[in-house]
Amino acid sequence: MNDFEIGVTKLQSNISWTPKNWFKLERGENLFRVLPPVHSLAKSGKIAQFYAYHGGFKNTKGKVCHFQCVQITDRKSKTITQRCSVCDMVTQLELKYKIAKEQPGVSQEQLKQFNYTQILPFKVQKRFFLNAINASNEIGILQIPYKSYMSLDTLLKKQQDRGLDPTGMRGAFLNFDKQSKYDGDPQVNFSVALATEQKGDDIKIKSHELTPEIIQEMKTKTVDLGTLYKTIDVSEVDALVNSQGEERTKIVDRLFGRPETAATPDNDLLSVDIPGTDATAVGRVEYGSTGLNVVAPQTPAVAAPVAPQSYSEVAPVANVQKTEVARPATAPVANTTPAAVDALSNDDFLKMFMPKQ
Ligand SMILES: [Zn+2]
Repeated sequence: MNDFEIGVTKLQSNISWTPKNWFKLERGENLFRVLPPVHSLAKSGKIAQFYAYHGGFKNTKGKVCHFQCVQITDRKSKTITQRCSVCDMVTQLELKYKIAKEQPGVSQEQLKQFNYTQILPFKVQKRFFLNAINASNEIGILQIPYKSYMSLDTLLKKQQDRGLDPTGMRGAFLNFDKQSKYDGDPQVNFSVALATEQKGDDIKIKSHELTPEIIQEMKTKTVDLGTLYKTIDVSEVDALVNSQGEERTKIVDRLFGRPETAATPDNDLLSVDIPGTDATAVGRVEYGSTGLNVVAPQTPAVAAPVAPQSYSEVAPVANVQKTEVARPATAPVANTTPAAVDALSNDDFLKMFMPKQ
């Protein structure tokens, strides 16, 4: 009986994805506290990561797997130097859609169905991703469009000039405003301002400090934005597009690992507000795995002229009032229409919207 052993049950520990909170901007005011750079972005001090990515391809469990768009456009000639077969496929399907629209026997319902099942899930999406805390004090991943990111960048620079950092250890909640006439309205204005709250007779900035408890929670609940979406080879992207049915799901399984855990949550594609059809910007940023690295206050780019203060000690002077914060209509970037952004090369795009390295 000596060779009879009883072991102890060990649960799988190599799960690559645990469920996270995903935050997005709803129409109107959205309260979020942006968290400082963590994980692989800690060193570079980047609070946000841009991704151009695709979804639509499902594994054998029916889960959608996302990966980065592989299209590369030459900066000078504006020509595509590396094609993405998913983007090409979407362009072709959009042509088909236009042709179908002119056919007398095709109903609105059929067109809608085609768009929502064959085109939109595969279409390239461009977003900035941040780790943030929502109004209910939950940590999650906030995705914002480039216009919102630009407004955030402007605000952070202004605050830095005052020696303050809303994303730092002694930070503050921000109000991400999304203004449109109705849901699905292509005319959307974004602005970001310091959030305020009523305290007695006073209006104060809604300050937020990162306590040791919150930092502990950040270790498991923030994500490494540098590795959010997987990079796959051009040949693998081709193989996916050229496959069908079971063959396709098997390729997805192979590329993304265990089907149970491979998928990243699917975003709400029905409210996609990205215009244009050609992918030009690709967030090709490679990061080494440095493990968990939660660091405290940064903003290394600019030396603060005065010692950083806490928002709890700062009066909400005129320039932090919401009405005076640059809105898209008056911001220096107001003329950057979606179409203009889509025409930019990858490098130009990133240069415009990313924080200085
Ligand atoms: Zn693509």
